[in-house]
Amino acid sequence: EDPEAAALAKLQAAYRGVWVFIEQEEGEVAKVSWELLGKGRELADKLGVELAAVVIGHRVEQLCSEAFRYGATRAYLLDAPVYAAYRTQSYLEAMCHLIEQYKPEVILMGATGMGRDLAGAVATRVATGLTADCTGLDIDDKRNLMQTRPAFGGNIMATIMCDKYRPQMATVRPHVMQMPQPLDKAAGEIVRVGFTVAEEQIPVKVLEVLRDGDGTQKIDIGGAEFIVSGGRGMMGPENFALLKELAAELGAVVGASRSAVDAGWMPHDRQVGQTGKTVRPKIYVACGISGAIQHLVGMQDADLIIAINRDKDAPIFEVAHYGIVGDLFQVVPELTRQIREL
Ligand code: FAD
Repeated sequence: EDPEAAALAKLQAAYRGVWVFIEQEEGEVAKVSWELLGKGRELADKLGVELAAVVIGHRVEQLCSEAFRYGATRAYLLDAPVYAAYRTQSYLEAMCHLIEQYKPEVILMGATGMGRDLAGAVATRVATGLTADCTGLDIDDKRNLMQTRPAFGGNIMATIMCDKYRPQMATVRPHVMQMPQPLDKAAGEIVRVGFTVAEEQIPVKVLEVLRDGDGTQKIDIGGAEFIVSGGRGMMGPENFALLKELAAELGAVVGASRSAVDAGWMPHDRQVGQTGKTVRPKIYVACGISGAIQHLVGMQDADLIIAINRDKDAPIFEVAHYGIVGDLFQVVPELTRQIREL
């Protein structure tokens, strides 16, 4: 027998189970974690293993039962003051301790600020592979996780496998996977892990958390039902006032193309597309956006797309359900006026 193959088979057999990292801030869970439990359930069933939620924080035990409602049957709980706010070092040590103790074969995290940071740190420390921003996940007949993601600016889809290392790690952006239906009744096993990290070992202290905007609400463009987006055709930051007026009538949030964000007209958290957010609103209004592939990949799953562009050949019209060929400086105020009169 090939000794290399035998060693690999032994390594793979030592790792079992699918884990989803439950991302939370002050007890509020990022929805992508539930979406990943939905996908994780499917993968765990194919592998014939348990689906576990990894809950790290302070006073977060109730999140374990929520995770059971979304399909987990086990939760690893690390609950201590040192985990109250996310910090790379403390969460990294916690994750690595869990991996060493319980050896999962798959770990999924949201491709959020936190998830990207943590997944990269963990994969480096445990010396395994990580595929970022996956859009599809499946299991092959050798128990490998097939991780599909766009490559070369969305022009091809690449399927990546990490067949020689365990665990297999992937991040997935919010809204890419379907939100699972919560179960009415669900129970699971909570594994309380006492591992903590000494404060002195962590170089970062969180002194204060400042929120965007008026401090009461974070704008989550990824979860918005209605979005009005502007691109380079807006010509300047002051003209976004037109979109804000339209958005106010529709109860929408204002998004932007990368060109508009790079120009400094809108903050980065409003960017839609490959290097911004993936959105799935009921209505997406694109104003002065040409429809580059990197923009389209972030919004083409919207239920209804309305495009306003003065160039009738703009590629945005290929994905739009309704297109208005015209000058947005005339069309947008007119649209706002008409909606106001409804
Ligand atoms: P343009 O392409 O310049 O289009 C402006 C449009 O406005 C034109 O179609 C024009 O006809 C129209 N217009 C102008 N004036 C008016 C008017 N008065 N009335 C009506 N229409 C008007 N882009 C993203 O958006 N998101 C991303 O996440 C992203 N990631 C990227 C990642 C990589 C690796 C790369 C290489 C690129 C990425 N891009 C991304 C950039 C992308 O390729 C495009 O450059 C960008 O989307 C173009 O933005 P735009 O449509 O606003 O500008």
